[in-house]
Amino acid sequence: MTMMHPGLSSGWILIAWVCIFVLAAWALFTPYQPRAAAVIQKNRFRTGSRLAELFISSWPLRVLKLLMVALYVLIIYSGLYGTPIPSHNIATTMTWNLWWSGLIVSVFFLGSVWCTVCPWNTLATWLAKISFRGKLGSVSDLKLRVPKHVRNIWPALLLFIGLTWLELGAGITSNPYATALLAMTMLMLATLSIVFFERKAFCRYFCPVGRTIGFYAQLAPVELRHIDAEVCQRCTSLDCYYGNEKAEPCPTGLAMRNLRENTYCTSCGNCIRSCPHHNIDWRLRSVSREAIQDARPRPDEAWFMLGLLALTGLHGLTMMPVWEYWIRKFARLIGDSGQLLLSFTVGQLLVLMVLALCYQLLVALTRLVNRQRLSFSSLFTGMAFISLPLAFSYHLAHNLNHLLRERSGLSLLLNNPLSTADKSLDSTSSQAGMMTGLISQDVLFAMQTALIVFGFWIAILVVRHRGEALLPGSGWRLFPMCLFALLVTGVQLWLLSQPMIMRF
Ligand code: SF4
Ligand code: SF4
Repeated sequence: MTMMHPGLSSGWILIAWVCIFVLAAWALFTPYQPRAAAVIQKNRFRTGSRLAELFISSWPLRVLKLLMVALYVLIIYSGLYGTPIPSHNIATTMTWNLWWSGLIVSVFFLGSVWCTVCPWNTLATWLAKISFRGKLGSVSDLKLRVPKHVRNIWPALLLFIGLTWLELGAGITSNPYATALLAMTMLMLATLSIVFFERKAFCRYFCPVGRTIGFYAQLAPVELRHIDAEVCQRCTSLDCYYGNEKAEPCPTGLAMRNLRENTYCTSCGNCIRSCPHHNIDWRLRSVSREAIQDARPRPDEAWFMLGLLALTGLHGLTMMPVWEYWIRKFARLIGDSGQLLLSFTVGQLLVLMVLALCYQLLVALTRLVNRQRLSFSSLFTGMAFISLPLAFSYHLAHNLNHLLRERSGLSLLLNNPLSTADKSLDSTSSQAGMMTGLISQDVLFAMQTALIVFGFWIAILVVRHRGEALLPGSGWRLFPMCLFALLVTGVQLWLLSQPMIMRF
């Protein structure tokens, strides 16, 4: 029996549409006021540089890192030697239901904090040091620069597309052994990149998880920045960038004096430790400020953001019965059999292409109604930030189903840490467990509706602020960009209203 999560009820969909139309009308017919940006810029809270330094060098953080490494090793062991039943193996339940779903929720509150305790990074650093000690000198002696044509995030986007293919197409989420192999592959890539390239090239250019977190962190309410800009301008040693005896250089090559975006900051805290002036601190800020105004666009980043939007939608779509129906129909047509991987691949490419095409058409229309005042590429790149809040809010709303309604893996970790039990829950008890989740269904629906409206609202703010910066005085002529946000939100609401196939 296929187990299903119920979709959003029509009452919640109606509420969402009313809010969305009110916001769209406000965006199109209310004159843009730069004053709104001034409010957005205000910083509200600092931790205090010494406190931040204490935290980043403290033993609780080291213990947390060790705990993550221990969990990672346990997941590998369980995946390789535990039961192949996915609902009874922590490799699958913890990786896909708890970690992958909870990770996105953590960005909402704490930005890229996951990277601070990431076991791939911790273990890769240890492994690289151990394996090269006494052979090639210190690891950093190699110090190769990443080739120029790879110094962008195209590799991360391609890996993300590949990861999604493995997850949704090849069904790695229900295969503990394959999940363990994937986790080991990521560790191997991270280790090789530390061995051959300077700094942490894997984190900066290749890691799809790190880049996804990085982009979503543009919407987070926290940032790590200098306290006094003048101190940074006067600084001649740039210890945050080069490192010193107290800490390694910034792993992703950021200099604090120029830092405007969270995108590539892995929250490692090296700069906090190395800054001789104690001029770096965490602070609270208005949600989404970076996506709305601060972040500077680049073409590879624009494509990554669009890819993120398409792939989050694909996650929802592939868990709908309708997707199964169409894929099976298409597979029969082309004579595909077995796991239907060819049909899935065509479906995945189609989703990516349809979204990219739709965005490009609406960018071209925006240009047309604004008398072609700006080049297509500048408008394409500059407005791609609309995708971020739309992707993030849907990703969160979708993941709430996994996180709150499915077996999280925590109970398994406590009761059966080595995943040796081979008896699966029967589907009726799984369904019952799902229905009596952590919170009531109505609260879950309310949260999902609020997230979708929130995503649309931020997307509209992006349109207004970036639209005005790129095409001053454009006002209602930005309607094609609003239409893009409206279309995407409509599809997302439809996806959430459908019953969703439960993982396990
Ligand atoms: S970027 Fe990837 S490998 Fe690096 S710390 Fe973050 S999650 Fe880990
Ligand atoms: S050293 Fe770099 S990556 Fe680490 S916290 Fe500072 S700016 Fe972020």
